[in-house]
Amino acid sequence: MYRRVLTSVLLLVVCCHWCTNDAQAELRAGAVRKSIVPPFPTKMGGFFDRLDNFKGVHDEVYARALVLDDGNSQIVVIGSDLTAVSSEIAAKTREKISQETGIPPKNILVSCTHNHSAPSIYTPGRLGELDQKLVEFFVDQFSQAAIDAYNNRVPARAGFYAGELKGATRNRQQRNDLVDTQVGVFRVEEREGRKTIATLFNFTGHPVIVGSKNLLLSGEYPGAAQRAVENMLGGVAIFTQGAAGDVTVHRSGDPFMEIERLGRTVAGEVIKASGFIRGDEQIDLAAGSTTLNLARRKIPPVEESQKALEAAQAELEALEDNAANKEIREQIRNRMRLYGMNLRMAKGIKEGTYKLPETFDAEVQVLQLGDLVIVSIPGEIFVEYALELRQRVRQLLGKSMFLAGYANGYVGYIVTPRAAVTGGYEASVARVRPDAGRQMTEAAMELVAGLNRSGTP
Ligand SMILES: [Zn+2]
Repeated sequence: MYRRVLTSVLLLVVCCHWCTNDAQAELRAGAVRKSIVPPFPTKMGGFFDRLDNFKGVHDEVYARALVLDDGNSQIVVIGSDLTAVSSEIAAKTREKISQETGIPPKNILVSCTHNHSAPSIYTPGRLGELDQKLVEFFVDQFSQAAIDAYNNRVPARAGFYAGELKGATRNRQQRNDLVDTQVGVFRVEEREGRKTIATLFNFTGHPVIVGSKNLLLSGEYPGAAQRAVENMLGGVAIFTQGAAGDVTVHRSGDPFMEIERLGRTVAGEVIKASGFIRGDEQIDLAAGSTTLNLARRKIPPVEESQKALEAAQAELEALEDNAANKEIREQIRNRMRLYGMNLRMAKGIKEGTYKLPETFDAEVQVLQLGDLVIVSIPGEIFVEYALELRQRVRQLLGKSMFLAGYANGYVGYIVTPRAAVTGGYEASVARVRPDAGRQMTEAAMELVAGLNRSGTP
């Protein structure tokens, strides 16, 4: 009896070994870049006070797609030089790619750099109304880039290395030093000859160097970084934006010079990091996705918001405007920003002019690309969540991790519970409750726990 059981176990082990070998066919990959400069007039997005159409192109904006195929699973990563990707764009793009290639939607990541000098599907002042013609244009370009990349697959090798860039960013909100200095680089090259197919990289910092007065389309510093990497390494370079909710970049001087300077600086680290990567011919690909239903943040009624604003105003006026009080006055102003926005929203809700849904669907997606785990989040999440997730993924799987924010949809800012109290710009415009970040990170970790060497959660 014992022997028979043992034999069965051995057979099972051998079989699984074969199955694994079978599943681990050679890696194949393809990458394609397509312009997303609209061939018709559209709004520019990114800033509340910019209502005009774009008037020209400073530097081309693109959608870029990478397809990886391990013979068993396929992963698609789409990057774009947009400010945000709506859930509609993501869903339609995935549908088209799935129809053409059979790749399941959950294996497809649709992201953007959060570039603030991009064409926009959002009509300023009219929340929820999308420019449908532009939506369709983006869906066509995004899906065609991925389908072309799929059709261009060649034998490949790939690997990850975490570079680091210090001193380029700062935390703009919490008066702490929390930033994410990782420059995550996933290099994909042709197996024979090692020519670059794609350089997928990740960095964290708001692309807001070029301001709201500008009416020329530009890829901002992520566009400049992608261009520089493509010029130096060849292939297609895809920038994914990290947890930039409270992280911005240091800048000074002429904005179009600045985007080149910072773009080159990020690209320099990407190029350096890519030099350390010894690609593997067999890497495991897996994907998981779950959709959370997040509640809208609580907006106190008009009277309560009014009182809070007046009390903070009185507090500010009682403090003499001098160097010693600078910090505390700034803190009060941050709270006033929150109370002021609450008041406007509460009035709008009361008068029926401000319509926000009660809940928001938010997809959390996890992709495994060999030794790299990508967690994608549909919004502007504060950086400490990404830093925490990186530690936890490392502890659980021993793998590297980067967070791709602004992906597969957009639910706005995802602040920490602390920022929901201390206020500031992000907390004031946040749509979801302060526990959204915690819900997202726990959902991500559940998906990560389901990843294993050969399986898909
Ligand atoms: Zn932003």
